[in-house]
Order: sequence, then C-alpha cells, then structure tokens
Amino acid sequence: QIDIKHIRQNPGLYEQNCIDRNYAAHSKSSWRIIELHEQWLALQQSSRQLRERNNRYRAHLSRTASLMKDDTEGKKAVPVREGMISDAKALKIELSAIDAQETQLQEEIEGLAQDLPNLSSTFTPVGTEPEVVGSINEHLADTKVAQGRYSHVDIGQELGILDFSGSAQTSGWGWYFLVGDGAMLEQALVQYALSATRRRGWKAVAPPSMVYSHIGSACGFQPRDQNGEQQVYAIEQSEKDKAKPQLALTGTAEIPLAGMKANQTLDSSELPLKTVGVSRCYRAEAGARGANTRGLYRVHEFTKVEMFAWTLPDSGGEDHFTSPTASSSEAIFEEMLSIQKEILEALGLRCRILEMPTTDLGASATRKIDIEAFFPSRQLKDEGWGEVTSTSMCTDYQSRRLLTRMTSKAGKPMFPYTSNGTALAVPRVLAAILENHWNEEERTVTIPEVLRPFMGGQEKIQAQ
Ligand code: AMP
Repeated sequence: QIDIKHIRQNPGLYEQNCIDRNYAAHSKSSWRIIELHEQWLALQQSSRQLRERNNRYRAHLSRTASLMKDDTEGKKAVPVREGMISDAKALKIELSAIDAQETQLQEEIEGLAQDLPNLSSTFTPVGTEPEVVGSINEHLADTKVAQGRYSHVDIGQELGILDFSGSAQTSGWGWYFLVGDGAMLEQALVQYALSATRRRGWKAVAPPSMVYSHIGSACGFQPRDQNGEQQVYAIEQSEKDKAKPQLALTGTAEIPLAGMKANQTLDSSELPLKTVGVSRCYRAEAGARGANTRGLYRVHEFTKVEMFAWTLPDSGGEDHFTSPTASSSEAIFEEMLSIQKEILEALGLRCRILEMPTTDLGASATRKIDIEAFFPSRQLKDEGWGEVTSTSMCTDYQSRRLLTRMTSKAGKPMFPYTSNGTALAVPRVLAAILENHWNEEERTVTIPEVLRPFMGGQEKIQAQ
C-alpha cells in the first residue's frame, strides 16, 4: 500500500530524506527497491513466457484428448502427448518457483518501503536545530525568572502532593504518586483540556492501553528508536499465545486512536474527523536519566489528553474538494496549535513555539511543532525550557500502513491524512504549574483560575 512507484521515481529524494532525518541505515533502501523491482520485472517476463507455453500445451492436450479415443491419427499423437504432459508438469513446478520468488521480492520491497520515514515538509529546518517561531505569555519573562529555581520535586514534596519514596518501593525509578491536591490537580487538568477540545468539536474517546505492536509500527512507533533505545513495554506472551500478535503497552493514545479506523473506509463527508483521547501512556525511556529529567519531567507512566484527526488528503489536482481550506490537514494542524496556545496561555505558563527540525520528526511526521514551557528549575542547564506539547502532520503515512481508506466524490479510492497533537500531557504541565506559580513567602502554589471550577473553587495548594 506504500506508494512504491513514487519511491522508484525519486530514489535520490528518499535517500536525502533519510540522511536529513537521521535514518542513515535506510538511506540506500530506495536504490535497493529499484534493483529488486527490476528483478521482479525480469521474473514477470519469464513467467509470462512460461505461462504462454503452458497455455499452448493445455490447448493442444485438450484438442488431442478426444482424438485419442478411436482415431488412428490420434493414437499416433500419444507419444507426443505424453512428452507434453511431462513438459507441462515441469513447467508447473518452474512457474510455482517463480511465483514464490516474485512474492518474496514483493515482500522485500514492501518491507523496505514500510521502513522509510515520511518525506519532510518544506517548513521543516534541515538538521538538528529547531526554529523558534512564536511565544506565549512573553510578558511573564521578567517577572518569572526572578522567582528562583526551586524545583517541582522540592515544592511537591514540601506540600505533600508528590511522593517519590513510596513509588521507589512499589515501582522504582520513573514512577510517582500524586497525592491529595496533586491527584486532584491531575483530574482538573484533564477535565480542563477535555472542555477546551470538546468546545471545538473534538469527540472524546477512552481508548485501550494495550495495542498490537504491528499497529504501533504502522503508526511509526518501533519497539526501539533510531538509536536502538527501547521505547515500548512489550507484554510477555505465554508459550501457547506465541502465535498470536504481540501486544504492547501504548506510549500515546495516538496509536489506538489511529488504529480504531484500521482496515476501514471513511466517508469523505464525515471528514475532518476529530477525536480527543484521554489515556495513560507508558514509555520505557531507557537511558533517559539525568538531573534534567528529575521528578515528573520524564516518567514511565503518565496521563495525556491527545487530539487525533483524519482529514481529506491534499487535492493534488483531484476533483473532490469543494473547500480544501476548511477541512485540510493544514487547517486542523492550526486548530490543534491554537488549542494548545489557549490552554498554556490560560495556565499562565510562558512558552516558546518551535518548528522542529528533520532529525526530530520521527518516522511518521512530515512537519512537527513543539511548544516548550519555562521551568525555573531548569534554567541552569537548559535555559529553563522543557517540551510540553507536540503536534505532527503525518500526511498519508499512517493511513496507508493501517489501510484506512476513503473515497473521493468521484468514487476514487484514496488515503485520508492524519494529524495528532498533545492537548495536555499532565506531568510536565503539573510540574510547570508548581514551579511557576509557587509563592516563596507563603509557601503555597496558586491554582490557575481556569482549573478552579474543577477543584471545587480552591485557589491555592497548601502543605497537607
Ligand atoms: P510525544 O507523544 O512524545 O510527542 O509527547 C507528547 C508530550 O508528552 C510531550 O510534549 C511531553 O509533555 C509529554 N511526555 C512525553 N514523554 C514523557 C515522559 N516520559 N514523561 C513525562 N511526560 C512526557
């Protein structure tokens, strides 16, 4: 289902794209696909010739079959016929060997094509450096920096709303307990993000936390990343279940949401289809420990509200779009960004908006915009910035691999585009709220106004 013709026609483009995206191991795949395709064409040609010969034999054999019964001429044909029968048998064996080789080549081509990353957009900076393209609550720049470097870990523990010693006993590094107002703040953040998205027509979905690994792969998530680091927790399968597809804990609701429409044909009139999933996310995050990932910053399990949408594909001269701008993936991408900006602005967090470079796009995105919030405690190491949201446009990368289809108005089968974006990932936002709204003298945290309705009107978090 991958557009292999496009790869064959543009091998240099795919090679450079792999290099730009740090997929060097796949940079020669497009050339290998061409080689394999040529081998496949040669096989096709010889199998066509063999089939023609086979057809001639069969025609001759059925013609002579009736003659043989009584006719002396027919009887003379018997030895010829017998030779033909054994030739036809040999042909059949040869043909099925060629068929098997063709299938093997096709599978190899398909496998190489599946593993190629999406092509990068023209907005995306080539290389490793993002480009700052905007900011949120810039006016807080002067006031907030002075607030000190007291980290959310210290604040959370002083207030009694974060417990890492308990989780060290139960689960080890990378897990945590949210306690009292900490647990309620998580619920308030989820409710607030849900209300912000549902107000704009995003349909709430509670997805499963376990998914088949092949669904994750089709969405661009491999068990290990480009650097070989383990990304997902695979579920151990008993001997008797070994033949069943491998299950894994999902790292993001993006995967089950995308998978929800696998092997389905969408009605173009229902696009854009906008869903918002609330889920627990599980990340192995191997090799990610460090001073800057302390506390809630990089954890193994967290709650995230995630937007996922299917849109019409780019028209590319097609007939079926009456108003491409209203429902295009660009429009949905902008809508997701404006929801993120609205949420982060209302939470009183100072942020910067980044157009992410090619090496940060992963496998599926053509374009990605991250928003980073200011964390006073991260000032020394990282100038204080830490990623809180990520928005990706995936064109037809996921729908081709998941076989999610749609039909154009003219009845042509097509693949819809998909996009995803964080509405709110709890732990980092919660950490940023603790650090940015900490009142040093009072030793309290001011709860942002928009969250108060979800916390019974409570204005501050005090030691408990
Ligand atoms: P991603 O799905 O990787 O694009 O991440 C979306 C958002 O989830 C990020 O912007 C972070 O806010 C948050 N996030 C990702 N990984 C972690 C983690 N290991 N711990 C805490 N938050 C995370």
